[in-house]
Amino acid sequence: METILLKNIQIAGKGKDEYDILVRDGLIAGITRSGASGCGTEDGMVHETLSCHGKVAVPGFVNMHTHAAMTLMRGTGEDVAFHQWIKEIWDAESGIDPEFVYWGTKVACIEMARTGTTSFNDHYWFPDSGYSAAEESGVRSVNSYVLCDRNDRKVAEKEKTRCIEAYGRSGKWRKGAFAVGVHSVYSVSEDLMLWAAEFARSNGLKLHIHLSETLKEVEDCKKAHGLSPVQYADRLGLLGPDTVAAHTLWLDGNDIETLGLRGVSCVHNINSNLKLSSGYRFLYKELKTAGANICMGTDGCASSNNLDILEAMKTSAMVQKAWREDPSAMPLDELLDMATAAGAKALGLNTGKIEEGKAADILIVDTDNTFFLSPAPFLANFIYSAHSDCIESVICGGKFIMRQHRIPGEKETLQEARKVLLRMLSGRR
Ligand SMILES: [Zn+2]
Repeated sequence: METILLKNIQIAGKGKDEYDILVRDGLIAGITRSGASGCGTEDGMVHETLSCHGKVAVPGFVNMHTHAAMTLMRGTGEDVAFHQWIKEIWDAESGIDPEFVYWGTKVACIEMARTGTTSFNDHYWFPDSGYSAAEESGVRSVNSYVLCDRNDRKVAEKEKTRCIEAYGRSGKWRKGAFAVGVHSVYSVSEDLMLWAAEFARSNGLKLHIHLSETLKEVEDCKKAHGLSPVQYADRLGLLGPDTVAAHTLWLDGNDIETLGLRGVSCVHNINSNLKLSSGYRFLYKELKTAGANICMGTDGCASSNNLDILEAMKTSAMVQKAWREDPSAMPLDELLDMATAAGAKALGLNTGKIEEGKAADILIVDTDNTFFLSPAPFLANFIYSAHSDCIESVICGGKFIMRQHRIPGEKETLQEARKVLLRMLSGRR
């Protein structure tokens, strides 16, 4: 694999000092202050040296909850209530196939590269297609087989078989890339959830679920089971340090304590929550204090309409500041941590920080524009002022997935995705 040297680059959160970052074998092999000796620059083994004066290295983002292929469903069910929206989504999804997921995910990977996401936790149908598309795009993915039986016993049995088969096929995948998905407590039977928890635990897999997203979900769950979704999921053994729970928006004191105690990774998807009117009072401080691992996600493009983590960071902080009437409610360094290291921790990935030995997942941010002119700290300008088009190049696992704003194969991917959409619309599949 190529060896790349990023010369005279600043590192986010480390002030104005410049560093030389050596990328080798997919990893950050060395970081030295610019001008100092070392970093492997003298041994002639560097294939490419990039002069990065005026640029800042930021760790690649980890989008902890998305449905990547839904980039092809952007705009479905606008301006309707959550339960009407999900009905429209499920109707639209009845016509999808592996090809749809493959090209939808390819499109998503273009969008992720452009907006700085180098790893994502996907929750979608036909995970083999999603995984292949991500691998080919050079973006690191974790793909769930999403169990959903809508309380039908026969479907539940089929789902178990399909999940076991999918897990078997994932033997060829990158280690840790397969996860068990549970759609939600309202769409999956108790029997299938018990099975999912056991299957994930016995195979050492992550478990990815939508949890406590809407008030209706909480009320319905209490009516049906006498417990909140969090307590119900906990009773079924679904919650632990390997659990990624998307949303966790409607919680009482007991729920917060349980999520903290179990060390669950809770994913905040502010734009999806706002747009579907699911709620906005994400209990960041309370969950963090209780011991939960708080991560950032966008959710799918049918609810958040894009996959831009930078935008999600800004909106998350703005909303927290507003409803709590507390400007310190979500500090800048914690925001970056939610979008990077916390996700890496949740998925067991060696990424999320610009440090020696970590995967070389690096965003090269160009500061030669109006947004970075003021002497304010880089993170303030990056998160609150700039847009993701300040991300000039993106390295994932030591390889460029975007270089000077250019992404290989972009035109061809869009062309193929258009064909898939046309076929779907013409009702021939
Ligand atoms: Zn979702």
